[in-house]
Amino acid sequence: MSLKKKIADIRHTLAFRLTLWYAGIFMLSACVAFFFFYLLITSVIRQQTDQGLLSEVRTFSSILSTQGPEAVKRQAFLQAQAAGEKKIFFRLLYITGQVFSSSNMSYWRDIGINKVAVNRLLDSRAPIFDTINIPDRKHEIRVLYAVIGPGMILQLGLSMENHTRIIAVFRKVFITTMVILFALAVVVGWFMARRALVGVETVTRTARRISEGSLEKRVPVKKRADEIDQLALTFNQMLDRIQKLVTGIKEMSDNIAHDLKSPITRIRGIAEVSLTSGSSLKEYESMAAGTIEECDRLVDMINTMLIISRTEAGVNQLDCQKLDIANLVRDACDIFQSPAEDKGLSMVYSGPENIGIYGDIRLIQRMIANLLDNAIKYTAANGKIDVTVSNGGDQSVQIAVKDNGMGIFGKDLEPIFERFYRCDPSRSQAGTGLGLSFARAVARAHKGDITVSSTPGEGSTFTVMLPKKVGFS
Ligand code: ADP
Repeated sequence: MSLKKKIADIRHTLAFRLTLWYAGIFMLSACVAFFFFYLLITSVIRQQTDQGLLSEVRTFSSILSTQGPEAVKRQAFLQAQAAGEKKIFFRLLYITGQVFSSSNMSYWRDIGINKVAVNRLLDSRAPIFDTINIPDRKHEIRVLYAVIGPGMILQLGLSMENHTRIIAVFRKVFITTMVILFALAVVVGWFMARRALVGVETVTRTARRISEGSLEKRVPVKKRADEIDQLALTFNQMLDRIQKLVTGIKEMSDNIAHDLKSPITRIRGIAEVSLTSGSSLKEYESMAAGTIEECDRLVDMINTMLIISRTEAGVNQLDCQKLDIANLVRDACDIFQSPAEDKGLSMVYSGPENIGIYGDIRLIQRMIANLLDNAIKYTAANGKIDVTVSNGGDQSVQIAVKDNGMGIFGKDLEPIFERFYRCDPSRSQAGTGLGLSFARAVARAHKGDITVSSTPGEGSTFTVMLPKKVGFS
């Protein structure tokens, strides 16, 4: 990867953006702090300058009151010379604003008398400060107007060299500090952003490896319970679910392939036998009947698969109508009575005369039939099957099919409702493994459910719960 591309890549990273944000906020805070510091320094310097000027005013005022105006003139001249004539100037004015004496003003000739300031002074009698900025001069000038005695005003000006110098130093310190702070903020920001995002990178790396085909990989969880750990946990949970789904789909397609293969093989066998050994019309007829039977079974299985998928996905609209569920189950028991008796089983129905519910009669009939068929299939001779319908309160109805047959092992209790799942002991019996998944799809489509409780060797009870008014308010 070229350097240019690397830099372009970095610019698009979250770490880069976080670093910029961090450095930006850091610099902004530093600027605000410097600004307030600057205001503080300038106000302190100004205060000091003003205090100096006021103390001069007090000196002149006391000289005027004790020694008279001549002494004030002398003092002004001498003091300006001593401090430097480019640093300070004194002007003595009458209250009319007319000048009657001053220090050497050749350097300060641009500074006139601010009439407004003089008037304000005469109104309030309190000293008036003014700041003057002369173009081409480096330093500002702080000017004070004050009454120092009856009929006499002092205009006092001081070059603010100190102020300018301190501001220059401040500016240098500001720039240097900001450069150092910026470098520091970028380094610290980058370090912090990288540290914070290292977990995200791990998740990304794992996701990449998974997309390359290793679905069993998981993101390591640091057990710090932070956001990254939450992300890793959620990601791992999602992977567990995907892996389960993929395994489920794989198992299901294996099962479909297997379950479709057997009837097709049988059909082929019948056809082969017809070809090789068929001699009479009767034989051909019986072989054709066998083929039709196998094909019917196959079509039935495929149809059941379709109904389950559509019912689960909610594509099949339920054809809901009012029906008497007690009557419907009783009728089903009557129909299954004879196969049960053929196997030496007793089937007993108990329940109220009528219970009205809303539901899809065809689907519910088939669901009950599946449960009764299973109970007969998986119960040995002389067994007993109890079918009960009861009110589950005002809102629902319960249909329980209890047998004392072979029972189901704990590990099978959940998967028996999956498509094509058949417990090992029942493989010898005829079946497709679709009956219970059909029953569950129907119960759930009616906003109900089906549960099972079982003890191996003692029997099982399948309980269907159906709400009385699915789809009606
Ligand atoms: P099938 O009966 O065609 O195999 P089902 O979906 O109806 O398919 O049932 C799935 C599996 O659940 C059966 O293969 C069987 O192992 C088990 N099973 C269902 N009902 C009973 C029952 N009443 N007693 C014991 N096992 C049962």
